[in-house]
Amino acid sequence: MRYSAAKIFWQGLTGNRGWTPAWRDPEPQREYDIVIVGGGGHGLATAYYLAKKYGLRKIAVLEKGWIGGGNVGRNTTIIRSNYLLPGNEPFYELSMKLWEGLEQELNFNTMVSQRGIVNLYHTDSQRDSYARRGNAMRLAGADAVLLGQSEIRQLCPFLDFDNARFPIKGGLLQKRAGTARHDGVAWGYARAADQLGVDIIQNCEVEGFQIENGVCRGVDTARGPIRARKIAVCVAGSSSRVMQLAGLRLPIESHVLQAFVTEGLKPLIPGVITFGAGHFYISQSDKGGLVFGGDLDGYNSYAQRGNLAVVEDVCESGMAVMPMIGRARMLRSWGGVMDMSMDGSPIIDKTPIEGLFFNGGWCYSGFKATPASGLCYAHLIASGESHPTAAAYRLDRYRRGALIDEVGTGAQPNLH
Ligand SMILES: Cc1cc2nc3c(=O)[nH]c(=O)nc-3n(C[C@H](O)[C@H](O)[C@H](O)COP(=O)(O)OP(=O)(O)OC[C@H]3O[C@@H](n4cnc5c(N)ncnc54)[C@H](O)[C@@H]3O)c2cc1C
Repeated sequence: MRYSAAKIFWQGLTGNRGWTPAWRDPEPQREYDIVIVGGGGHGLATAYYLAKKYGLRKIAVLEKGWIGGGNVGRNTTIIRSNYLLPGNEPFYELSMKLWEGLEQELNFNTMVSQRGIVNLYHTDSQRDSYARRGNAMRLAGADAVLLGQSEIRQLCPFLDFDNARFPIKGGLLQKRAGTARHDGVAWGYARAADQLGVDIIQNCEVEGFQIENGVCRGVDTARGPIRARKIAVCVAGSSSRVMQLAGLRLPIESHVLQAFVTEGLKPLIPGVITFGAGHFYISQSDKGGLVFGGDLDGYNSYAQRGNLAVVEDVCESGMAVMPMIGRARMLRSWGGVMDMSMDGSPIIDKTPIEGLFFNGGWCYSGFKATPASGLCYAHLIASGESHPTAAAYRLDRYRRGALIDEVGTGAQPNLH
């Protein structure tokens, strides 16, 4: 079924009885050409591009829970391409371009809203480093504008500009950045992949890999063994646990990250704002809730919930930059398990086991990467070669010392 305004109108007139399920619920077959482990945004996008761009069929996505239950449905929805390093910026800009055409491509309203992102700066040296980042962005074809205090005052008059400790001196603006509806992205890719014949199999946990003479020939699942020529893992926060089933140890730690939403308020925050003197980012959803988050909880965990100390820390940062949010009542908070890599950048690569591929280490940057990650991973799986835009994300960079340390904090996942 193609979605369109005419269809909504017609369904409205006929009691909305003609809508069909967005994707099928097939029984797993015993054999596929390609099995993708993990039905998050990245797994579904990979399946979609494998079918759409590379014309491959007989693909299954195996998801242990339900579609949209992982980090793809838990994040704070920010999409942007404001990176500095050559390994990262072209990749995230490719993703931004794919976001710009995604709704038409998938025929699904993923609510991509390019409302802009402002990174506030509070010191002269921070301004200089933001200017450098803005220049790097523009060299890679992205957009960036450095704003002074008076321009930020016009854009966001509610900020605490003259806070003695964290005075706001200006900000780096990327206008094309913004937000997208997180679980809508998973549903859109799932529906589009399903229409191209991909089997999306929920409640199907992968419990082991069938490795014969160094070649991966299939997986053991909660719903029986499945053979495949290629097996591609992208399980985000479960990366270390799943790859351990294949005997591989990764440079990844799992940490909890929380998100928060307030009651609905009138439109107030024009785009995404990030605090430059602490870890705090905020936007306003279309329903009016303020959506915000901050730092990791700071300890390794596989729990999808966090602790009060971080709630306090995040709210304190929020109050420091925009004291008026102290009046808003917080409605909900939740956590997701982040696959924190040692340099804060992701991995899209083959593994030493033939036929087994790995995609992970997205830290808390993976949502914005979903389209490009799917496209580049599909390229690698289909051709056996890294996509030129993701060539820096090889696993051996840790051995070679060629880290992509965007934040400059070294091999310390809790600080990235
Ligand atoms: C609170 C929070 C805020 C965030 N904010 C942002 C943001 O604003 N911008 C941004 O770019 N990124 C953000 N992120 C990060 C982003 O959400 C993730 O990096 C990204 O979603 C990870 O990729 P995914 O969608 O494929 O993961 P997931 O949706 O987690 O998909 C992985 C899937 O694998 C499945 N799985 C695990 N083990 C198995 C198994 N053995 N067998 C089968 N399936 C399995 C899981 O059930 C899960 O559905 C945030 C994350 C959190 C938690």
